[in-house]
Amino acid sequence: MLRALALLLLAAAPTWGSLEGDAAPLARGGGVIAVVTTSTDLKALVEAVGGERVAVESLAPPLHDPHAVEVTPGQLAKLKAAALLVRIGLDHEPWLARVRAAMNDARFVPGGPGDLDTSRGIELLQTETPRVKSERGVHVHGFGNPHYWLDPANAAPMTQTILDALTRLSPDGYRAFALNRARLLERLDAGLARWTAVLAPHRGARVVVVHDSWPYFARRFGLAVVATVEPAPGIPPSPSSLAALTARMKEAGVKLLITEPASNLSIANQVAARSGARLVTLIPSVGGDAEARDYPSLFEVNVRRLAQALGGAR
Ligand SMILES: [Zn+2]
Repeated sequence: MLRALALLLLAAAPTWGSLEGDAAPLARGGGVIAVVTTSTDLKALVEAVGGERVAVESLAPPLHDPHAVEVTPGQLAKLKAAALLVRIGLDHEPWLARVRAAMNDARFVPGGPGDLDTSRGIELLQTETPRVKSERGVHVHGFGNPHYWLDPANAAPMTQTILDALTRLSPDGYRAFALNRARLLERLDAGLARWTAVLAPHRGARVVVVHDSWPYFARRFGLAVVATVEPAPGIPPSPSSLAALTARMKEAGVKLLITEPASNLSIANQVAARSGARLVTLIPSVGGDAEARDYPSLFEVNVRRLAQALGGAR
């Protein structure tokens, strides 16, 4: 009897140990991989793949101006202790240059051993958009549109890149990472079928956006983005370009203007009032709204808002 109990305890011991380690995912070391991401979307994807084997910090909050991200000394310290910096790439993070200069750490230079650019493996849109490419260090979509995480199908290549990197750091985690990733993709596949069906009656709907964040989303769900309020990414419209835009919107019968929580609301309201289009606020990143708590729910929220707005606009 006692002997059997002792064996049971022995058998249970490793499990207890690993449970303890997994229960403290914020602890550094102990098999937990410290990861820093540039966005909450990337944080959500790394957490979905890494599960309890990762501790992830996002440098940028969910809603931010890409030119005004301030990284705190505490975040810099976390990056110093991290094994991996995961970023969107292209010219999405102009503020990262300052972070790298402050860090002076060869691991995190572009292409360095700790640097992970998830735009690898993505079929980019707008790579031919004529822009002043010499303006490095600003978010102008100069290397293709960087808002590619807003197509849920792009989670497959993004999480493949993440899975490969986590496996390099922790080869014995591979099975868990691959299983976690498969579960996420399964959930997204089911979501995609549902979201596509919800938006099917609105295929071809013509919309105008404030910032050009939505081309991947629009392609996936069959919306036609006919114009942007910003004449170029990050550039506010002049009064004359606003007048031309609202005239075009009326002419083209555009019923919907897509804003984001960080958009300039007074400009958006002016465009809506003058064009007669309805305003809908979509959430560009995980955490930008309480309901958008993880990557799949980001699409739940946006698809629902869009369907409501388009339904009402008929
Ligand atoms: Zn942008």
